[in-house]
Amino acid sequence: MKTLPPPSFAPGVAIEVEPGLRRILAPNPGPMTLWGTNTYLVGNKEVALVDPGPDMEEHLTAILAALGPDERIAQIIVSHAHKDHLGLAERLKEATRAPILGWQAVDAPFRPDIALVDGQILQGPDWQLEVIHTPGHTDDQVCLGFRDTCLTADHVMGWSSSVIIPPRGDVADYITSLEKLAARPWRRLHSAHGDPMEDPAERLAYLIRHRIAREESIVKALRRRPMTLEALVSQLYATTPRTLHGAATRNVEAHLIHLLRTRRVSLDEASSCYETIHDELSSSG
Ligand SMILES: [Zn+2]
Repeated sequence: MKTLPPPSFAPGVAIEVEPGLRRILAPNPGPMTLWGTNTYLVGNKEVALVDPGPDMEEHLTAILAALGPDERIAQIIVSHAHKDHLGLAERLKEATRAPILGWQAVDAPFRPDIALVDGQILQGPDWQLEVIHTPGHTDDQVCLGFRDTCLTADHVMGWSSSVIIPPRGDVADYITSLEKLAARPWRRLHSAHGDPMEDPAERLAYLIRHRIAREESIVKALRRRPMTLEALVSQLYATTPRTLHGAATRNVEAHLIHLLRTRRVSLDEASSCYETIHDELSSSG
């Protein structure tokens, strides 16, 4: 979460970012979406669309205009059910008659036409995508392997770490999912927001370190004195603009849930203060 850098590509224009992979930026810039949502078109002729984007007329028009005269969208794949990814799915389905594919999470309101399975290979005449379930940002987040690149949606982004909102977001899952991607020799990562990442191993290692460091900073702050969630956020995000404190609060809350579960902190119900558990003190001085 930072102030927005100037966009390096324009909305509404299909750009070939890999042979057989086109990206179209939706016009929904903001503090959580950077320049907007990247929609991807995979293959030619029988195309898979990854992430419809927000429900905006201009974006629907741009997607349909990007298709050649002998091309059609055969599959609509949703990386996860946040509205800046899923919003346009139903209208795209109406326009193309293609089914909507996505992860069916337990008790989730989003019901894809076809539920994806981890490790599944989706294919068209000239493309293949490997489904990689990467819960963390949300429980229904999937990444898609495309040759030696990966479409990482909101799981891995170049401009910011992922916001993790409980209960569908989970810090432990997120770190495990980062490690899952890091085990593979990707050449480049294409995310749903911002530029491609040219050094996947470096980026993934950084994000894992960043999460662990954030968690340690919470434990360190609580070791000094018990604090409420709000007090912790004010202290840890003192230099972050107040408009982003809502997202920051949910990130810290996600860490606290993880710390409670792993018994590193406890919650005093009466004061709403979190505190470190005694073992923590003695083991880390
Ligand atoms: Zn999201």
